[in-house]
Amino acid sequence: MSKNVPYRINLPEEYIPKQWYNIRADMKDKQPPLLNPSTLKPATLYDLTPVFCTELAKQELDDTTRYIDIPEPICEFYKMCRPSPLIRAYCLEKELGTPAKIYYKFEGNNTSGSHKLNSAIPQAYYAKAQGLKSLTTETGAGQWGTALSMACAYYDLPLTVYMVKGSYLQKPFRKNIIETFGAKIVPSPSDTTKVGRAILEKFPNTTGSLGCAISEAVETAVEGDNSRYVLGSVLNQVVLHQSIIGLEAKAALEMYDEYPDIVIGCAGGGSNIGGLIAPFMKDKIDGTKNPYFIAVEPASCPSLTRGKYAYDFCDTGKVTPLAKMYTLGCEFQPASNHAGGLRYHGMSPIISKLYHDGLIDEARGVEQTAIFKSAVQFARCEGILPAPESAHAIWATVEEALKCKETGEEKTILFGLTGTGYFDMTAYSSFLEQTMGDYIPTDEELEEAFKLLPQVE
Ligand SMILES: *Cc1c(COP(=O)(O)O)cnc(C)c1O
Repeated sequence: MSKNVPYRINLPEEYIPKQWYNIRADMKDKQPPLLNPSTLKPATLYDLTPVFCTELAKQELDDTTRYIDIPEPICEFYKMCRPSPLIRAYCLEKELGTPAKIYYKFEGNNTSGSHKLNSAIPQAYYAKAQGLKSLTTETGAGQWGTALSMACAYYDLPLTVYMVKGSYLQKPFRKNIIETFGAKIVPSPSDTTKVGRAILEKFPNTTGSLGCAISEAVETAVEGDNSRYVLGSVLNQVVLHQSIIGLEAKAALEMYDEYPDIVIGCAGGGSNIGGLIAPFMKDKIDGTKNPYFIAVEPASCPSLTRGKYAYDFCDTGKVTPLAKMYTLGCEFQPASNHAGGLRYHGMSPIISKLYHDGLIDEARGVEQTAIFKSAVQFARCEGILPAPESAHAIWATVEEALKCKETGEEKTILFGLTGTGYFDMTAYSSFLEQTMGDYIPTDEELEEAFKLLPQVE
């Protein structure tokens, strides 16, 4: 029997990492570079700096520095909500009757309600340090917009958030909270940008998509005065910032002589799972341990499980660099569903490469009714109302724990509980009232979107 593990492992402040861990430095086979869409040559710092803040563009391109110092003011901010707790899911284990030991890293303990704040703070910090006058961004489910509005309030930076219209209408309080933090919020597509107007003309009734909101935010940044665009997921820099999730989780487990056999994360753009698995992936690459990694995504937006590994634009308006990633095609419009933060057409190039090379062992696509069943089960026994996105990881954890029940194996499972679902009550109520449906795109629909992939190779 290992040491007696408490319900909550709350590490003291000195355990907040002083450096982010850059998994790319350890990847034996590096991911293909971002490409400039007009020359099809690898994107350079010069290509990226009109859109991104310079320090962040450097991080984006850096695939050799293993550890990157976290500036002191960011460490200070992190102290307000970190280290986040690592929780032993004793109640869920009991409910499932499993011999498995289940741990989750809970990132919802801040007002924005998700892990997004981990990257919002450095992005706002570097923008301020560079003397930028404003930032623009997009948000799907609203967590990123909220986290960034918090960060921009802290650094006194004006911010405009383009929020996917469907989600904007479904979650009216997101607007209020973003405005409370002083940012401006615009439902997308909007008539405030050229690309928004073009998309509205083509699809007048669209409820929007992340790819489209990104295009609007980029256009506004590029045309603004000393303004830049920031993104809450997908990019290498975001995965880098999120590595603090994994670093803290590893330190907390070590304190109790634990090491995960299985690590599970939900995957939208890939940032939380990238950060959670990073230090464990290092062990796998180094050959010292062999944890099994599972990425879970919605069946309605199945980029890893049914997408193509190809160069694609990161946005619908085709203004961003090309990234090699698992993608459904940048023109893919996911059906309206409730897994808001997991509705992106592509996937982090880092996660895509790790999955392509078999280092992430498995991806699963799951229907939303199954996800909400797990969410409700978890809420009732663990007492935390999970974000629908996070519930994808819960779903797979329950599956794995039930397998252990059959085989009698005492596996240690770690999953990322990325956030809380207080703004998702419309979705919860449609699940509880049994009006929620499942939508899975057909092969034909996917083929249509694949046809529009840029011809690069
Ligand atoms: C944004 C979000 C996700 C998905 O984004 P990743 O970049 O894949 O981590 C998952 N959970 C929550 C709560 C989110 O806000």
